[in-house]
Amino acid sequence: MSDAFDVVVVGGGPVGACIAALLARAPHRQERPLSVAILEPHRPALPSADAPLDLRVAAFSRASERILDAAGAWREIAPARVSAYEHMRIWHENRRAGSREALHFDAAEAGEPNLGYIIETRLVQAALLDAAAAAGVRIDANEFVSLQTAPERVHIATSGAALTARLVVGADGARSPLRAAAGLAATVADYGEVAIVAMVATERAHECTAWQRFLHTGTLAFLPLADGTSSIVWSADEKLAKTLLAASPEQFAHELDSAFDDTLGATRLVSQRLSFPLQRLHAERYVTERCALVGDAAHVVHPLAGQGVNLGLLDAATLVELIVAAHDEGEDPGALRVLRRYERWRKSETEFMRVAIDAFDRLLAHGTGAVAQIAQRGLGWVNSSAELKRWFMSRALGISGELPAVARAAQSDRSSPHR
Ligand SMILES: Cc1cc2nc3c(=O)[nH]c(=O)nc-3n(C[C@H](O)[C@H](O)[C@H](O)COP(=O)(O)OP(=O)(O)OC[C@H]3O[C@@H](n4cnc5c(N)ncnc54)[C@H](O)[C@@H]3O)c2cc1C
Repeated sequence: MSDAFDVVVVGGGPVGACIAALLARAPHRQERPLSVAILEPHRPALPSADAPLDLRVAAFSRASERILDAAGAWREIAPARVSAYEHMRIWHENRRAGSREALHFDAAEAGEPNLGYIIETRLVQAALLDAAAAAGVRIDANEFVSLQTAPERVHIATSGAALTARLVVGADGARSPLRAAAGLAATVADYGEVAIVAMVATERAHECTAWQRFLHTGTLAFLPLADGTSSIVWSADEKLAKTLLAASPEQFAHELDSAFDDTLGATRLVSQRLSFPLQRLHAERYVTERCALVGDAAHVVHPLAGQGVNLGLLDAATLVELIVAAHDEGEDPGALRVLRRYERWRKSETEFMRVAIDAFDRLLAHGTGAVAQIAQRGLGWVNSSAELKRWFMSRALGISGELPAVARAAQSDRSSPHR
């Protein structure tokens, strides 16, 4: 005998946990709410107030803030651990950070209090899982093993008790065992780069600014943290990354200062270094009968634009909007015609981002020759064109394109406790 749910979400990372919390909290017209379970073997706890910041942080857009709020998680994300950034400065190593050939986004220019937030991914995940549990979602610590699709339901085998659902959602990350089990093909390729993540103290204050310098060997970002230090994400060609990871902390800091053109003065490593080999991935289809993929299970992009989790949260909000609408109309939420609406809506947006991000990586981070020179100058052109700048800024804020309803208020809501 297996437990029966309307929706089973495989993977309770930030994206899967968000789907479950949004589904359980969504207003609906039916008498019976949707029953939801998550399979997640590694549930993190909310960090205590005095715990040191976790090394894995991400830039969350303003649209993501709205989605996390609708999911009931934003109020659990303690302001003391969140860093709102008000500026972004992007430049190429052949130019200077403060020159007219650098791109500068200022929240005030967009009439916004900030451009987004740097937050620990683990904190967001823990807050979302707590919100989901509080809203009645069953959190099951077993692993997904396999699935079998029947006309009315899908049967899910786990490392513990079996489950059945009308819809199974694959939010189980880039390797996605569910994607493989559902027979959904994905194209995967190496970038030939490794992202090195660490925390550094800097001589000068970070100025609530997200800094990014394109180098001929990759990309270097400094993200401002709530405790005054900065999180660096240094995406470097494999050979250079190997040398940087083997270097002493002092030698590493020296190389970092040179790669960052001493923009914030001398740096000092205050954490270990983590490394992530970078891959791009896109699933050819996001849906099949009674199964949908979201987040990294559907698409993985280079971290240079800080978009991965933001795209995933938009997938989550979109899928939930369509499932709840179907449920309200008495439709089967696992029916392929419902899931295809989700695929049509989200796939064009994520494909666009993927192509754009890869072009930045190819031309700005590694490009040589005339086309790369034009791209490098392009940063300055965008900076001097109000219209182009507005377009790029709305992308950074996450408020462009066709948004699900819960993300749409991003531009107008000024009531966040973090401002
Ligand atoms: C260096 C680096 C920097 C980044 N910076 C940013 C940034 O600034 N902004 C941004 O938006 N994105 C960023 N990203 C991307 C972001 O981290 C990912 O897009 C995001 O974590 C994806 O979330 P997810 O929930 O889809 O998948 P994951 O976070 O991978 O979660 C998948 C979950 O599935 C669970 N799971 C796996 N297998 C099973 C199974 N068999 N059964 C049950 N559960 C299972 C796992 O335990 C896990 O909890 C960065 C990525 C890297 C590598």
